[in-house]
Amino acid sequence: MPLRALKSPYFALAPLSAILLLSAFSPAATPGANGHHAPAAAGADHHVDWTYDGPTGPEHWAGLDPSCAECSGHEQSPVALQTSEIPTPGLPSLIFGYSAAPRVATNNGHTVAVEAKNDCKLQVGQHACTLANYHFHAPSEHTLNGERFAMEVHFVHLDAQGRRAVVGVLCRQGAANAAFAPFAANLPAKVNETKPVPAFDPLTLMPANKNYITYMGSLTRPPCNENVLWMVLKTPVELSASQIGQFTARYDHNSRPTQPVYERKLQQN
Ligand SMILES: [Zn+2]
Repeated sequence: MPLRALKSPYFALAPLSAILLLSAFSPAATPGANGHHAPAAAGADHHVDWTYDGPTGPEHWAGLDPSCAECSGHEQSPVALQTSEIPTPGLPSLIFGYSAAPRVATNNGHTVAVEAKNDCKLQVGQHACTLANYHFHAPSEHTLNGERFAMEVHFVHLDAQGRRAVVGVLCRQGAANAAFAPFAANLPAKVNETKPVPAFDPLTLMPANKNYITYMGSLTRPPCNENVLWMVLKTPVELSASQIGQFTARYDHNSRPTQPVYERKLQQN
């Protein structure tokens, strides 16, 4: 099997190919480490200081520490998405089984992340995973057809082997979004501060149309682990200027620049 076939999303392959491909994946070095303060492989005490600008900014991440070497890899995220150049091979629908529960939002020093419990499922073809957290970037990390959006929400899922699957939702400035309101007015201001999030279904943060672009990429912050299945929804949602301002009052440039695609094949439905 040509090596390049290994770079396709595993759910899109025939069963035998899928088995071969799955064996090529390695479990995440730090299962569950999908928040922005994830310990690196060197151990729980290992901490790498990084930022979105200056001498510890994105151009320098790969050299900050041996654990960050993958930041200069060839399967990095985010990327620029151009729908006119992406084939439509017939992808499985995203089947969400999310539920509403009270949660906690944490300001982790790089974003505000809402930790999920083990109660939100995502099924993509034969691939089942569970929501670990969702968090926010401003401006968006992916671009779509040349447009950079005001914000992007990442829904980070883990499967039983610790592999990550992230759904990206692009947010454009427009009408106020009722789904965003429960916690936007109450975002934790200080690093390591937490705030309760009232019970609501995180699926309401997504657009009704769940068509997506998929590719194999990485975490968008150090240590930039690859082997992440990305699904960026093609339909943006709207947030009002004041709602965007509620987040950017905390973080207004927590976005990594787009990375080269290299040999990867993107797909869409
Ligand atoms: Zn993210």
